[in-house]
Amino acid sequence: MSDTVDPLLPLTLLEAVRTVDLPEGDLEAEFVAELRNKRFGLSDTVFAQIKRFTEAVKRGKPASFDEASGIAKLIGRRPDAEAVFREAGRSLARQSYRTISPFVRKLTRVLPALASRPIALRHMRRISARYTGGKVRRVGSTILLLVPKSVTLDAAPRLGGCAYYESAFRELMQLLVGGVGAVEHVRCASRGEGTCEWRAEWRPIGTAQ
Ligand SMILES: [Zn+2]
Repeated sequence: MSDTVDPLLPLTLLEAVRTVDLPEGDLEAEFVAELRNKRFGLSDTVFAQIKRFTEAVKRGKPASFDEASGIAKLIGRRPDAEAVFREAGRSLARQSYRTISPFVRKLTRVLPALASRPIALRHMRRISARYTGGKVRRVGSTILLLVPKSVTLDAAPRLGGCAYYESAFRELMQLLVGGVGAVEHVRCASRGEGTCEWRAEWRPIGTAQ
């Protein structure tokens, strides 16, 4: 059997293409029709695929890794690839954050950092395992995310594809702990370092939230 990924991955990639390609403001119907032919994100193909993956997410039906990485490669050919990957990553974080119960989400916001961070970390681990096949580790005030098999690997020039996981990681930290310093791509499989890894700083406990 070939490898699978959560269907939210291909879905967020395609939704990001659509978001980036959406025209701004009120436009003449005629012009919109013309755009639909010119912009991939507004095409019937993308519309049909978004529908299919939305259904797969609802049913919890896994998607093929190769299909997800094929979509990433298609995005990678665009001049604005990195922006699309960043948008998709933010969306992956927001949608996976919603899988945490509202009660727990509230807890992580109201409890003092000392109590909320272990909860946040536990959910980061679960979400990362499910959606990225990755592992989250804490070393002091540093959180590391390791993604052994990236769907966006080599998808775009200048490690543009890695922006997908980086922006998902940053956004998830932001949502769960309400503050994150710089996120650094410390190891990259594209640079021949075996695997992709990111490091984020947690604000030290005791400083203002
Ligand atoms: Zn990388």
